[in-house]
Amino acid sequence: MSLMVAASLLAMMHATQPWPQLATFAPVVATVVVLSTTTTALLLLLQFKIQKQFFLVPLAGAYAIYALAAVSSLISLHASSGNSAPMATSNMSHWSTYWQFGFCAFIIIALLFRKIAHSFPQLNRISLGKNTVPFMLTPLIGIILYMLALNSGNLFSALMASAPIVTSPLSWGSWIMAATTFALVRAIGGDNKLVTVFLSIAALSHLCHVSHLLIDSTPFSSNWYMAQLLSLFSTTTLLAVLILQLSQFSRDLAASHSALLEKANKDGLTGIYNRGYFDEMAEIEWRRAQRIHSSISILMLDIDHFKEYNDQHGHLKGDKCLKKIAQAIQAEMQRPGDFVARFGGEEFVVLLPYTAAEGCHAMARKLHLAIQKLKIPSLDHGKVSVSIGHATWETPGENHSVSELLSQADLALYTAKRLGRNRIVRYEELAPSLAWSKSLFPPEIMHH
Ligand code: GH3
Ligand code: MG
Ligand code: MG
Repeated sequence: MSLMVAASLLAMMHATQPWPQLATFAPVVATVVVLSTTTTALLLLLQFKIQKQFFLVPLAGAYAIYALAAVSSLISLHASSGNSAPMATSNMSHWSTYWQFGFCAFIIIALLFRKIAHSFPQLNRISLGKNTVPFMLTPLIGIILYMLALNSGNLFSALMASAPIVTSPLSWGSWIMAATTFALVRAIGGDNKLVTVFLSIAALSHLCHVSHLLIDSTPFSSNWYMAQLLSLFSTTTLLAVLILQLSQFSRDLAASHSALLEKANKDGLTGIYNRGYFDEMAEIEWRRAQRIHSSISILMLDIDHFKEYNDQHGHLKGDKCLKKIAQAIQAEMQRPGDFVARFGGEEFVVLLPYTAAEGCHAMARKLHLAIQKLKIPSLDHGKVSVSIGHATWETPGENHSVSELLSQADLALYTAKRLGRNRIVRYEELAPSLAWSKSLFPPEIMHH
């Protein structure tokens, strides 16, 4: 900001020094100003939609007025393009003075809204989707004010037409307005939020711009060039910060979205996948296996005598034990597609796509051993152990579902428990002996 003031002062000292006459300079600046102000107004409204802070709406109005002014100045530039001094027409000076008022007034209104936002929380709850009328209102007021200013220009023209801009009371008025705006931005928007900082820069560059015009507005002087550059600066700074903020916002959103997704799929205690994720993935993998005629296996693990463990060691220790076992199983998941999920209380389920019965059994032994190696002491049973049941379908049939495979693995686990726990049972070896164990299973399970 001090750099800008220094450059401004330097240009003022050589105010009347003529510079090379770049005929396209003013139209180019005006075009950029039109584009940047309309984009800024639009982005501010979008920002309001996201952040729900009402002061952004009048701020958008300020930039909408600026955009209108820039459009009309472009038109008048075109109309007077035959003249050697396009910006010197007195009408142009008046017009620009009017919109400078509007621009500043809306910034001040925005600041006031920001200040009193806590008194009118309902304003921040305006939703653009359903309530588009208030949303449209501010730019509309801007347009109406601007039109009024343009028309009333005729009333003032008699007063101003002959007066050089320096002595025009309107110009002094607009300078005071710009100075007030800058002072208010500094005073009210006291926080160091990015928008406040850049609004200060915009307000200051606008003040410098007005000051330049007040001193001398002879086209193609260093003073005039500086004034043009400053108007460019005051309209593009906020745009830059808005684009930065929006990109930051979408980055944050993407990050929190993926964090949320991750959290939604994970079990809070053990950190491994939860039942919901398992159900979803099991269905996908089952259909894939059906399509490509590949084998698919499921392992069910259940901690033995865990109720006793909890009773004897307390629930906190029980939780720690659960976590350790979950992580030990997780550490064995090496192939892509293999994964473990917490199925319920102290039960885990492992899905192994593209895995035949032998591979599945090898994995079961690996897991059993890994949990043995943890050597978690248990009062009555020496070490904490698990029972494992697993089942495999070599080629999942079209009319079958993954829940059938799941209940087969469950049945195998149930058998492992019945046979004394701390062991692995595969459904395939169990099937022929079902008759033997009829008494073990309730009739509905026997249908498998
Ligand atoms: P079995 O060998 O037949 O599997 O016996 P069990 O005691 O392990 O099985 P049961 O189904 O009777 O009891 C499961 C116990 O697991 C009951 C509950 O206290 C414990 N449990 C389930 N979820 C949690 C948990 O999140 N934390 C802790 N600490 N314990 C849990
Ligand atoms: Mg259980
Ligand atoms: Mg158990």
